[in-house]
Amino acid sequence: MRGTVVLKRNRAKPVMQRHPWVFSGAIAHVEGEVANGDVVEVCDAGHNWLARGLINRHSQIAVRLLTWRRDEPVDATFWRRRLERAVAARLALVDQSSTTAYRLVHAESDGLPGLIVDRYGSWLVIQCLTLGVEQRKEELVGLLVDLVDDVRGGYERSDAEVREKEGLARHTGPLWGEEPPELIEVLENGLHFLVDVRRSHKTGFYLDQRENRARVRDFCEEAEVLDAFAYTGGFGVYAATADASHVTLVDSSAPALDLARRNLEGLGGRGVEFTTGDVFSVLRGYRVQERRFDVIVLDPPKFAHVKREVKRAARAYKDVNLLAFQLLRPGGVLFTCSCSGAVSPDLFQKIVFGAVVDAGREAQIIGYLAQGMDHPVALTFPEGAYLKGLICRVH
Ligand code: SAH
Repeated sequence: MRGTVVLKRNRAKPVMQRHPWVFSGAIAHVEGEVANGDVVEVCDAGHNWLARGLINRHSQIAVRLLTWRRDEPVDATFWRRRLERAVAARLALVDQSSTTAYRLVHAESDGLPGLIVDRYGSWLVIQCLTLGVEQRKEELVGLLVDLVDDVRGGYERSDAEVREKEGLARHTGPLWGEEPPELIEVLENGLHFLVDVRRSHKTGFYLDQRENRARVRDFCEEAEVLDAFAYTGGFGVYAATADASHVTLVDSSAPALDLARRNLEGLGGRGVEFTTGDVFSVLRGYRVQERRFDVIVLDPPKFAHVKREVKRAARAYKDVNLLAFQLLRPGGVLFTCSCSGAVSPDLFQKIVFGAVVDAGREAQIIGYLAQGMDHPVALTFPEGAYLKGLICRVH
């Protein structure tokens, strides 16, 4: 008999509303022989069937739900259908002639909990973030090879911290086909970028910022631009090609800035400056020197990983936004982002409001930023929305 997870009384509502996670605290007991990674049925306290998913009792998220249709078995056809749907949706979203790097599979929000698949030109980079997906990796890879055209090979970047919560060791390495070159050259909105899929953050590039990077262009003509937390120069490249008079890129990672240098090479003779250092102290230095900018991009790393870190993160976001407001010329524009899922868009706006008040400046919101369309958010899974941001005009 297949294992059955029986929920506690009054704990069925999220499952009925199709949230894909069952927390261990919601489970009354498990019936039948169940090994971690197995398909299980989920029932309410009265044994009414609700959903089907993959169990891992090592994790606080004990079951990742896959289907709410009793007649839908979790078999090879199921995985193929889900992958097909995710891949087909991207074809309509991304203009392949100008963008060759994008997300093909966005985990829970694509009905594939724990699985991330990013495309970088002719290579796929895969992250398996749950035990259920880890156990089915070979099958999923086989399907991807079959479903995605013009792919020369696959590389695994299962080195995210969350693997530990699933009881999994981190793992990276080639998965199939040709190994990717040291640096893969990709196009994003017609611009060239070199991506190191072996060693760089995430799967190699902050694909989620693509649409926001494109929006920066509108403000860059003849502007002095500061790209803070620049990584490999995503925003900086857009600014430089949009006729900025000067672009300053700041990041604490020397290897990231080395790659940024290569990404900005040959983009025209206008001023470009790379500064390795802590954004907080570099910006304080600029304040002392009375340096000013027309456009500032703030794209910091995730300051809050979990709820209990939100207060500390809020202070850091406020500090860095305060500095940015002080460094902007009248009429200047701030692109400010947060990729902390635990910080809501509402809270983020309040933090930025606090910063502008303390800076003694006046500012308007002229745009809202979010993760790109290839990083969808299932309506049943609001946790999938993690990237938020504001475009502010300062007076
Ligand atoms: N804007 C980039 C992505 C930024 S990711 C893009 O579009 O591709 C965040 C970056 O912040 C990382 O490169 C990390 O090295 C850098 N970073 C983290 N903490 C920092 C700090 N205190 N000062 C400077 N850089 C920092």
